[in-house]
Amino acid sequence: MKRVLAILFLAVLTLGVTSVQAIQTPESAPAASATAAPSIATHFDVDTATTAYMDELSPAARAKSDAYFEGGYWLILWDCLWALGIAWLLLGTRLSARMRNLAERMTRLRWLQTAIYSVQYIILTTLLILPWNVYENFVRERQYGLSTQNLMQWLGDQAKELLVGLILGTIALVIIYAVIRKATRSWWLWGAAVSILFVVFLGTVEPVYIAPIFNTYKSLPDSPLKAKILSMARANGIPATDVYWFDASRQSKRISANVSGMFGTTRISLNDNLMNRSTPAEIKAVLGHEMGHYVLNHEYKGILYFAVIIVFGFAFVYWSFGWVERRRGARWDIRGAGDVAGLPLLAALFAIFMFFMTPVNSTITRSMEAEADAFGLNAAREPDGFARAAVQLSEYRKMHPGTVEEFVFFDHPSGWNRIHRAMIWKAEHLDDADIRATDAVVPAGAR
Ligand SMILES: [Zn+2]
Repeated sequence: MKRVLAILFLAVLTLGVTSVQAIQTPESAPAASATAAPSIATHFDVDTATTAYMDELSPAARAKSDAYFEGGYWLILWDCLWALGIAWLLLGTRLSARMRNLAERMTRLRWLQTAIYSVQYIILTTLLILPWNVYENFVRERQYGLSTQNLMQWLGDQAKELLVGLILGTIALVIIYAVIRKATRSWWLWGAAVSILFVVFLGTVEPVYIAPIFNTYKSLPDSPLKAKILSMARANGIPATDVYWFDASRQSKRISANVSGMFGTTRISLNDNLMNRSTPAEIKAVLGHEMGHYVLNHEYKGILYFAVIIVFGFAFVYWSFGWVERRRGARWDIRGAGDVAGLPLLAALFAIFMFFMTPVNSTITRSMEAEADAFGLNAAREPDGFARAAVQLSEYRKMHPGTVEEFVFFDHPSGWNRIHRAMIWKAEHLDDADIRATDAVVPAGAR
């Protein structure tokens, strides 16, 4: 899902990513535990257990985690500014108009003109953003020790992404521009509809045809752990007969798993970093979470939420395009929304919209992630495994943000929140035989 959206925004509607300026709030004091003391094991205290997990991170590790994640807030702003700068360059120098003129000289077919312009546009904008892309996604990832790639390997992946973006982006733009020209007054609605269909299409083909371009997916070898995962799947009504794993260590150290695909292509995959760096309890906890996404139909709900946002996005772009065009259209030599030379303006306006949608997008995703967390705790019954996984995720996610900060920027619940909820779950299940057995927080060295 994440890559689907990334491709849509990066390749199709271009550089437009998200955001809002960093709103920093002081760390809020941990909320008082909402749990009543459990009936039997009164010695277990939710806040103490949560703090014990938080204390496993050294102050240096916490500082690094905070710096990495907080830096990401500013990246959202810079991404948007880069997108605007590139649009300004293409329009202000009339380069965009010249690219359109070239396409018009090459063919009389309107759709082919759009395609020729799109190819030029996607290649040019990819090259213009490359320096920033290298810093944000290569240099910075290496500075924080998250990337496992050298520059050539990273550029190789970028080249593949460009190729996929060229094919899918050109197709999408040809269709969207055909719609804009047909429905001059209501194209915002039809354009949104086409984009939503395109997202559904990408979501369906991504796990089968796109993800394997970047990583090798294999069936997880038989093991007691795999048997346990499939047992969990059956118990929760998931028709999975296999679990996939993929070599994410090609690109990074990050532990992760995902559920992807729709309409029969849905699959549960875990990455090799999770396999190699985590205990069976942690893996079970993470897979329980992923199964939550599956059972709760988050892929489909995500599309519905996204559909609402994209309709508003197109409405904003429709309105603001007309406003800007009346003032600058002649100077930039663009002839209305149906003129493909106006694409940089469309992309810039969409980038501005998505920037201000950052808290909305974060909250939509974060809410579904919290639901999957709750499902996963019940399905896997591994609160300590889940808490431990949350500690590991501190490599790339700040553990204890302020409330406003979490609302605006977090697309997953914070580590502190996840540990705290896991400990509440544990406190409420201490009467159960399987939970009592892992009654205490296991010290870090003795896993
Ligand atoms: Zn999730």
